[in-house]
Amino acid sequence: MILKSRGVGSFFKCLPQITIGQTPGRKLLSYLSLPGRPQLFSGPVGMPHPSSPACNANCVDVSLSTLKRKTIVSPQDRLTFKPTAQEVIEYTVPHLQTAPFPIVSFGQGCEGEPLLMWETIREAIIEIGNILTSGSININTNGSNPKAVEALMNAGLDSIRVSTNSAREDVYAKYYRPNNYTFHDIVQSLKTAGEMGGWTSINYSFSGYGRIVLLNWMPFCAN
Ligand code: SF4
Repeated sequence: MILKSRGVGSFFKCLPQITIGQTPGRKLLSYLSLPGRPQLFSGPVGMPHPSSPACNANCVDVSLSTLKRKTIVSPQDRLTFKPTAQEVIEYTVPHLQTAPFPIVSFGQGCEGEPLLMWETIREAIIEIGNILTSGSININTNGSNPKAVEALMNAGLDSIRVSTNSAREDVYAKYYRPNNYTFHDIVQSLKTAGEMGGWTSINYSFSGYGRIVLLNWMPFCAN
């Protein structure tokens, strides 16, 4: 079904059958971040897509998974289920069919690491590629799994944005506190995507543009 006009009502009409508020598409929508909702419903260019209920990092302070202070309200909840490839397709295709410059972005905010769901995302990207010829597919990630990035690039991923707070491994590790990957994996993920023709970018979480900071970034970017 093609989405003719924008708005929440129009979007819901595109979500197939099922009954009261619990179609897979609706289920995913309820986890969309507050900043992401207007982006989706008001004629979006980019569509944020929550896709993972877990993360393999434990970022200091910003991690929803470690948030203990109940007085702080998060702008979005982490998924409590693993979406299937069919749910991902159902949620993304209306946007890809109708937005003027359609972009689907897996991963948003501190909502879990999409590369942990790479098999599902790969299946969805392949199916989306069979349905559509236009649109761009992006992943916002911590870059922890270069092999998964390679598999997604082979499936049709167009771009990758990797988050880091530093170009230095020791500073990165202290903040991200990774479980099962290292700083070298995030560098390799960017390298793999770039070498396979993808658009790569870095989400640099901390500001600071002193000479020393820039010098640290030079070898990182050279890689
Ligand atoms: S890597 Fe991203 S999703 Fe994971 S804890 Fe850090 S900010 Fe949250």
